[in-house]
Amino acid sequence: MPEPKHHKIVIIGSGPAGFTAAIYAARANLKPIIIQGMQPGGQLTLTTEVDNFPGFEHGTTGPELMQKMQAQAERFGTEMVFDTVASVDFSRRPFTITCDGGDLFTADAVIVCTGASARWLGLESEKRLNGFGVSACATCDGFFFKGRKVAVVGGGDTAVEEAIFLTNFCSKVYLIHRRDAVRAEIIMQEKMFANPKIEPVWNSVVDEILGEPGQGGGVRGVRVKNVRTGALQEIPVEGVFIAIGHKPNTDIFKGQLEMDEQGYLITRPDSTATNIPGVFAAGDVQDKVFRQAITAAGTGCMAALEAERLLASQEQGPARK
Ligand code: NDP
Repeated sequence: MPEPKHHKIVIIGSGPAGFTAAIYAARANLKPIIIQGMQPGGQLTLTTEVDNFPGFEHGTTGPELMQKMQAQAERFGTEMVFDTVASVDFSRRPFTITCDGGDLFTADAVIVCTGASARWLGLESEKRLNGFGVSACATCDGFFFKGRKVAVVGGGDTAVEEAIFLTNFCSKVYLIHRRDAVRAEIIMQEKMFANPKIEPVWNSVVDEILGEPGQGGGVRGVRVKNVRTGALQEIPVEGVFIAIGHKPNTDIFKGQLEMDEQGYLITRPDSTATNIPGVFAAGDVQDKVFRQAITAAGTGCMAALEAERLLASQEQGPARK
């Protein structure tokens, strides 16, 4: 067994939450490490242009934004570990973190920023056209479909919210749902049904996304299958937004950190503190509502500040009488 390496703060995950936590922790001289995980840079590395992150008046790209955040974290001394966490032991302090590669870390505080992953339909065409008209984030990519016809797949709050949002730009939005009723909040449903640009396609699943990737290419339609009749129908669209839910990346914390029924980590109100003192959670792993890079960065900052305060109070020891 390798000798464990001890750090005051270990950050697990390298999206906007993780890098922001690292920038703050490093500037507080806590010499954090980031264990980058399966998808270094997080979900943003899957998107193309990013136009809504403040400070980039002409926009940037997801990968570029993440490179800049990483460089900023490194500038203040954050150490990057290119590995994935296999297991954690939060039952005693210092906490223990074991990586897939066999490295062992111990930490006085841990900031969990493992994010969430969009659920995908699992079609080969969906994978092939990802970034060429297929997206899992209307807020990120909707603007690029100005004046075009698009489809949203799903029937939850996210799908309905995205469909309504997309009508700000798109000429028409088809909402493809596998049943004949959406599960979104009633108020959202009312908004959707009142919107003449949205056309629900009920009892239908996506059979194939049509088109070819590459310059001048992209999505040109979607073939849907009616689950009741089996009938196939082609709908001409240039964008397909998959909104069938997200899965928080929390499997390794099961049984140790409190989570809701969907697996999102539960943090205290106005705080990033989890049920275990010294373990904090930031970003999409604890946020199923906003899921924006900027909100993830915000909670990453909160987590670092809270960890810093906790460690400072422990170093001072109990207050003298
Ligand atoms: P949900 O799990 O609520 O909804 C997923 C939708 O996708 C369902 O309609 C489901 O269909 C459909 N679906 C799932 N798998 C497939 C599949 N393989 N093929 C086709 N369709 C599929 O996810 P959301 O992301 O919408 O919401 C997640 C959570 O976040 C919820 O608690 C939601 O309330 C919350 N949220 C809140 C918002 C707000 O308050 N403003 C905004 C966005 C999300 P079916 O209905 O048949 O199961």
